[in-house]
Amino acid sequence: MVNRRRTHSLSPSAWNNFEACPRKFWLSRQRLPRKAGMAASLGTAVHDSVEDLCNLDLSGRDAEEDGWLPVTAKSILTRQWDDEREKFFNTARHPKWKEEEFEHAQKQLIGALNILFMKAGYTEVSLTSITVGQWRDIQEMILSAEGTLRSSCGRLMGRLDLLIADRDEDGNTVGWIVADLKTGKPPDGELYDTVSRQLRMYRDLVIANNPNHPKITAEGWYTKTSEIYVAEGPNVLDEAFTAWEASKLTPEPFDATPSSEACGFCEWKAWCPSWIWSRANGEMESHGTFRDYVVKVLRLEDDCSVGLVEIMRPNNMDGEMVPTGQKYGIVFAGYAQENIKKLSDIAWEGPVLLGSVNVAGSSWKMGDWCDILPWKPLHRSERE
Ligand code: SF4
Repeated sequence: MVNRRRTHSLSPSAWNNFEACPRKFWLSRQRLPRKAGMAASLGTAVHDSVEDLCNLDLSGRDAEEDGWLPVTAKSILTRQWDDEREKFFNTARHPKWKEEEFEHAQKQLIGALNILFMKAGYTEVSLTSITVGQWRDIQEMILSAEGTLRSSCGRLMGRLDLLIADRDEDGNTVGWIVADLKTGKPPDGELYDTVSRQLRMYRDLVIANNPNHPKITAEGWYTKTSEIYVAEGPNVLDEAFTAWEASKLTPEPFDATPSSEACGFCEWKAWCPSWIWSRANGEMESHGTFRDYVVKVLRLEDDCSVGLVEIMRPNNMDGEMVPTGQKYGIVFAGYAQENIKKLSDIAWEGPVLLGSVNVAGSSWKMGDWCDILPWKPLHRSERE
């Protein structure tokens, strides 16, 4: 019989997930309801706008024309922003959309364009002064924008933001630059290990696929500050293939490696019994104003705006939960109210994961930023 199951491929971000916690990687492949986030949507809108500008067709335009880029960039970003907003609301789990973040996206797009100007040798220009002829010159420097990189065996892959020609002062190509746009906070000193590994994986895939390549540099372009960080270090492909081998999906979950760092923003807590077991055993702390709990809902007002919950604790490593007797009043608003209502409508009586509850006051508070999900630890894949 022909095995129609396609081989999986490992991207740098999936590899980072796998290294942070193999269970997180496994859960991310179980077709569970995903969570959208504002930072990711902003990043994608900026990335896709840079790609569109790099591929912009300027044929027939006067090379001396200036003043065109701010308007063009804004209209491209607006279109990408609208697409991202639609995807955001079509994602099963999402917080509130922050329209006011458009301004930040605009600043980040300008930050990315400023790096491109600098790389092309235009140091004394502004968005308004760039002429059509100068932008064409920048486009010639770009060898690839948002290209998919794959190892020849298909096991490793990634979306490379930009591959550009590295030019000397006279405009001669002296190498290639593999560039990844970063819309997050720049590091204080060295690149984060995860980012360095990601950039080197892109670099090493370009090297493997282009035997006659010139010198290649891998750079993280931080668009907030227009700063460039170079990733240096040995080839990572052997390690990446080892990770690919280890990350072949099995019906049983991969091991979990809970830690404050890995679990902090993990979107799969409702399906993972390990974090709460680790916390109950004092291996992971729970502090701060916003915390995660598994609770039993004891009472809910008719409109689901107010309720009473009891904290539960794990009875074993499998996520079986038992009551603790600790009860709290809780106020639900926005999406939190909608989501607790959904559970009430399906008459869910089991434990409930409350993600990012504000525990600062005498009553707990939940709003648009929170997760409310049925507690359903996954012990075996439900994929066919
Ligand atoms: S909650 Fe923590 S232990 Fe569980 S999958 Fe996520 S990162 Fe891993």
